[in-house]
Amino acid sequence: MTLKKTESQSNQKIIKIEELNWKQIDKLNRDKTIFFLPISPLEVHGPHLPVGTDLITSRDAATEAIKVLQQKKPDLTYVLLPALPIGYCKFATDFPGSISINSKVIRDLIYSSASSLAKLGFNYFIICTFHMAIPHLKGIYSAMKKIQSKYDMKTCEPWGPYFYNNQIEKNEPKLGFDTSKEIHAGFRETSLMKYQYPYLVDESYKDLQNIYRDLNSPRNIGKKFKQLGLKDGYVGSPARADVNYGRWFFNETVNVCVKATIDLYEGKKTSELPKKIKNAMRALFWC
Ligand SMILES: [Zn+2]
Repeated sequence: MTLKKTESQSNQKIIKIEELNWKQIDKLNRDKTIFFLPISPLEVHGPHLPVGTDLITSRDAATEAIKVLQQKKPDLTYVLLPALPIGYCKFATDFPGSISINSKVIRDLIYSSASSLAKLGFNYFIICTFHMAIPHLKGIYSAMKKIQSKYDMKTCEPWGPYFYNNQIEKNEPKLGFDTSKEIHAGFRETSLMKYQYPYLVDESYKDLQNIYRDLNSPRNIGKKFKQLGLKDGYVGSPARADVNYGRWFFNETVNVCVKATIDLYEGKKTSELPKKIKNAMRALFWC
């Protein structure tokens, strides 16, 4: 039963906007088509994971979520936009491969992308990101606010509310250590990449020491990784990585996206960022 479902899911075609012509796009039902935009920066993820870890995860989660949605709600059409290697990560730019984009540019990029579709009457736009830096989210949430104020388009960003409302800790398999400190290329992401792309994980992860920092603490804001003593560009305990946890974690990224999409479509209230994160976003200058 499970196998059959997996097979039929993988045979479903994912509609990619770049492969359509304008007539095909014009034929899509405005009220029954949902667009997915994966967006995350290229950013150092320790000496053991690729700089595209967040970007790849955003794209894969959106793709898998579409496959699940095609089964759950086959009357709707799901369209994947090309993944944008865009995001704010200035704190990581003391490592090669980290490319930081200003938060105002992120806002304008998302707004321009979504409003190009909204102007033609399309109504649903999901933003998939796995990069949780607050200036990055400020760009995304400002764009969403602007779109919703000018058009009928409904948008959401599923992972931020899940992440910042500590839902991972609440739902994950019990492990006997505090995973909430595994914030960057640590246990969680190394497990996920070991599950999804074992050939992209450098074996050196097994020898990496545990190292913890609160990147959102006021005294750490504005500092780069190396100034915080993060000489290898990760935060957490990658050596603990476990492929079974990686499977759970990846599936969770998919489930969260599926649930948010259905809630958005059905007009239910989607999860919100907690107040303290909203306030932090508001207090932040554009950077
Ligand atoms: Zn990451």
